[in-house]
Amino acid sequence: RLVTLEGGEGAGKTSAITAIREQLQARGHEVVLTREPGGTPLAERIRELLLHPQEETLQPETELLLMFAARAQHVQQVVRPALQRGAFVVSDRFTDSSYAYQGNGRGLDVDWIQDLERRAVGLRPGLTLLLDLDVRAGRARTVGRDLWPDRIEREQDDFFERVREGFRQRAAAEPQRFRLIDAAQTPTEVAASVTRALGDWLDG
Ligand code: C5P
Ligand code: MG
Repeated sequence: RLVTLEGGEGAGKTSAITAIREQLQARGHEVVLTREPGGTPLAERIRELLLHPQEETLQPETELLLMFAARAQHVQQVVRPALQRGAFVVSDRFTDSSYAYQGNGRGLDVDWIQDLERRAVGLRPGLTLLLDLDVRAGRARTVGRDLWPDRIEREQDDFFERVREGFRQRAAAEPQRFRLIDAAQTPTEVAASVTRALGDWLDG
């Protein structure tokens, strides 16, 4: 009953989440919406560190460990308790983002990420909606947005191409968990694709 949304910049994850909430609530489920990095007060403070390392360069290893520090807190404080009482948890990003950004994007060792996942997370989503979008189209949609100004905005397209490819490989490797959504559609169409995929999963 853990549903996650993944994808690159400008793919429309945030708007898709609204549609998901309405769909689940219409079926009478309790829904907990959350996001990563963040989702608890402490994890949101870690998000701030990740967002604004200020003049200091955030080392890739530091970035990975802070991501998992925030995630460990989020899982224990929010995700597990909600799942245990039978709620649906819908998270804007989760561990797959670390594989894609810190693994494929920054080139950190996948074995290390797997170990952190096993020790500090210990659960996988039942359904992951991957909002897949061409890197340049995503960039065009996010110009002017306050996107990690100290770090991510400096990244070149090849970084985001690796991230996208990482997500797509994970989706191909776990087809039973992932649904690939074409995020080049209009926001209304993306929301419709997302609710269709979720509805099939709920009924399946
Ligand atoms: O999903 P959202 O746009 O809020 O993500 C904020 C930023 O965090 C994005 O720019 C994304 O590139 C970055 N990020 C990251 N590594 C993660 C998760 C998010 O670099 N594991
Ligand atoms: Mg967003």
